[in-house]
Amino acid sequence: MFMSTLREVPSEAVIASHRLMLRAGIIHKLGNGLYAYLPLGLRAFRKVENILREEMNRIGAQEFKPTVVVPGELWRESGRWDTMGEGMLRVKNRVGQELVVSPTAEEAFTALIRDELSSYRQLPIIGYQINTKYRDEIRPRYGVMRGREFTMKDGYSFHADAESLDEVYNRFGQAYRRIFKRCGLSVIPVKADTGAMGGTGSEEFMVESEIGDNTLILCPSCGYAANDEKAACAGDDDTGRVPSDTPYEAVETPNVRTIEELSSFMNTTSKAFIKTLIYKAHNSALGPDGSDNSSKKQSSVSQSRSVPERFYAVCIRGDLDVNEVKLAAALKASEVELADDEDVVRITGAPVGFAGPVGLTSVPVIADESVSGMHDAVTGALKADLHYAHVEPGRDFTPFLTADIRTVKAGDRCPVCGAEFYSKKGNELGHIFKLGYKYTASMNVTYLDENGKQQTPVMGCYGIGVDRTLASVIEEHNDSDGIIWPVSVAPFHIIIVPIKYEGAMKTAADNLYRELLERNLEVLLDDRDERPGVKFKDADLMGIPLRIVVGEKNLPQVEIKERSAQRAGEKDARLVPLEEAAEYSAGVISGELEILQG
Ligand code: ATP
Ligand code: MG
Repeated sequence: MFMSTLREVPSEAVIASHRLMLRAGIIHKLGNGLYAYLPLGLRAFRKVENILREEMNRIGAQEFKPTVVVPGELWRESGRWDTMGEGMLRVKNRVGQELVVSPTAEEAFTALIRDELSSYRQLPIIGYQINTKYRDEIRPRYGVMRGREFTMKDGYSFHADAESLDEVYNRFGQAYRRIFKRCGLSVIPVKADTGAMGGTGSEEFMVESEIGDNTLILCPSCGYAANDEKAACAGDDDTGRVPSDTPYEAVETPNVRTIEELSSFMNTTSKAFIKTLIYKAHNSALGPDGSDNSSKKQSSVSQSRSVPERFYAVCIRGDLDVNEVKLAAALKASEVELADDEDVVRITGAPVGFAGPVGLTSVPVIADESVSGMHDAVTGALKADLHYAHVEPGRDFTPFLTADIRTVKAGDRCPVCGAEFYSKKGNELGHIFKLGYKYTASMNVTYLDENGKQQTPVMGCYGIGVDRTLASVIEEHNDSDGIIWPVSVAPFHIIIVPIKYEGAMKTAADNLYRELLERNLEVLLDDRDERPGVKFKDADLMGIPLRIVVGEKNLPQVEIKERSAQRAGEKDARLVPLEEAAEYSAGVISGELEILQG
């Protein structure tokens, strides 16, 4: 086998899995965010793929193979040509046709099903692929954890009604739990954001990770678990202020800008302030009455109803932070960002720092739920060096929309049971999502129901990153010597290391190798002319679950050692008679596999 183990790794590899994947000869970097798999690594990669395939097939999903390069036209139909932004790699072919290198495949699957679907009898359709994706990530990092090219198992389902979608969505949820268990991974399923349009349910599968991009909000008592992009918390309206009968009045606040400065100037706490931020929302589909213009079945018209760019004034209690994902969801927007100073000055008619909801008419006011519970509050007065005191929400201003848009943190209280949240950093391995009608409506997918009436199917989508799953397995299973593969994902089950590949040792090693292959075990024989120390180090680094050492002084016995015992501190290897070695090894491997299968 082509083998390429390294003692040194580039300094950019900061996490264990990235370092070990490079050192053990799992991957090779070809470019920024572009990694090739080497033969050893590809074997482990295929193991993950096969687990995914088996579990998908088990729940009745069928494998498809759409193309990776997809006509841009399909992305225009769904509207995502304009909303996907820079992350999507677009190219033109020689005849000027726009093409997309798939970052995900809702469009491709929807178009495929549109052409094949005619009758309700065909539903539900549950399909998946295991295929290449490309996302032009700004900052690819941590090796294949966040690459530009990667492989995803992505599934899509089409249904006549919500009950059928629910049922299949739950099947995927169960399959995902089995998949990660079989890979030896501990995952935390959390409630997730459903995005701007049409989603009705969403769950992400996270692994705990110091370098995780996600903050998980967890309840120690009832098991509530959510991404902070979605997490809600119990109200905590007691700000220590009581309703005020005094009309609001202007207060001169020279040289006071920040909430902290204002708190000490006014001799109160930040909970007395209504913080007002001006946000720019992209593709907001919020109707004139605050309703959602997009998620109805007729969402084919929604594209024309969403506004490419619209500003909002967003109010929240002074001690809290706006969560931009929750805000985008409330505004039915594809994305939100803080407005530039220039826009703030134009909209508020005042320098930055004096925005407030009272008397603001240029843009709609969006309030966090925390604002509803406030009394006798302080706000910016839309004039330099001026604030209003004794402001009563509802009396002095009425928000266009009130929604839960705060960032929930550790220490906030669980909305279900009231216990205090804690939080963890996590990395997303998989995601299941009830999409609703977003794609089937915009791309005009229809079928005839029992009564011969034309209907639009409802859709779900389900993704798992193959590379990121593999890297996460290493992240969870390693020690200072290298990888410790769970048997289910290991590139080989067993490595035979002859102290020297000659004479009686060679004969014994060769015979054992053949015997193990006959038992359908995956075996690597280290026939290199290297010092034993080098071979042992490489075996540990590569993390093969079972190591059989064939040494002259032990023959006719061989030494068998489990790689995982090393981490557990059980140093002692076992001496087993050569003729029993194959049977003994097979027993260990199948035992471990059984545990992982659950
Ligand atoms: P992230 O928030 O980490 O960027 P995402 O929410 O954009 O991920 P999805 O669109 O839900 O990702 O894709 C499904 C899965 O694909 C993810 O759960 C992850 O395992 C994998 N994935 C996404 N982006 C990458 C990437 N750049 N490199 C490797 N795997 C990725
Ligand atoms: Mg996701």
